Amino acid sequence: MPTPRPKIVVVGSLNVDHTLRVPHIPAPGETLTSSSMLTCFGGKGANQAVAAARAGGAVSMIGCVGHDDFGSRYIEHLHSEGIDTTGLIRSAAPTGSAFIAVDDHGENSIIVNAGANHAITLDDIENQASLIRGAELLLLQLECPLPVVQRAAEIARAAGVQVILNPSPLSAEYLAARFAVDTLIVNEGEAAQITPGQNLREAMCRHLIITRGADTTLSITADRTEEIAPPQVTPIDTVGAGDTFTGAFAVASSEGCENPVHFANAAGALATLKPGAQPAIPTRQEIEAFASR
Ligand code: ADP
Repeated sequence: MPTPRPKIVVVGSLNVDHTLRVPHIPAPGETLTSSSMLTCFGGKGANQAVAAARAGGAVSMIGCVGHDDFGSRYIEHLHSEGIDTTGLIRSAAPTGSAFIAVDDHGENSIIVNAGANHAITLDDIENQASLIRGAELLLLQLECPLPVVQRAAEIARAAGVQVILNPSPLSAEYLAARFAVDTLIVNEGEAAQITPGQNLREAMCRHLIITRGADTTLSITADRTEEIAPPQVTPIDTVGAGDTFTGAFAVASSEGCENPVHFANAAGALATLKPGAQPAIPTRQEIEAFASR
């Protein structure tokens, strides 16, 4: 019998990213004409939800979008990825957006309007508590208000649901008010700020995973530290590699896969081979084929 797909709940952000191509980054007071604009679905929460769904998870997303057209389009998009959206809330605030100016040298400048992502409340999380308790794994990032993220983690842990936190974008608020999770997935820069000595107690987790781009990924538990090399690739765009790694890891670890980091490394490396965040996220078939090379 095929193994049932693991139930994964993501509490996190949904943004619409507008990328504007400009000759240079505008100076204060300057008006520029962009040569193109690309509009894509993004936000770390939704990116990781899509990564987990394509990797084979049965994914539900809890988050907040506006009553605007972007909100409706985002919900349709998640449906097309097979993601359950019954936990999505609509708010009077606009759907979160990011405005990204990229110049001809690849330099960028980003303005994020959190919008509806910051309108989600503790009451909203309490209303979705049964969805969280019914999952095998809860996946969190830091683009929603910290008290909401922390409460979701508490509900899950009290019900024996595994919690993975990707504390990104890292904030002073999180560093001052850390909370316990099962697995913490960080990149090298985040690791240096959270726990320079790579200490589980300091990181408040049982399993610490440190991604290091093309370099080996560190997997640290009380019993052992392992270094797992990602496959060698020639990246064209590393945007979204970390989110892809995290979503794929969530699926592999909740399936009891022997080496979930190996699977996640293959997914992360594949995500660097196509431009954009969500368009570059590989399917399970692609990950398996790549991981077994
Ligand atoms: P972030 O984008 O969050 O800073 P990393 O750069 O550490 O995260 O990348 C996350 C994961 O994506 C890596 O652990 C690896 O699996 C994969 N990855 C990223 N860049 C490369 C690369 N150049 N070659 C192979 N794998 C990569």
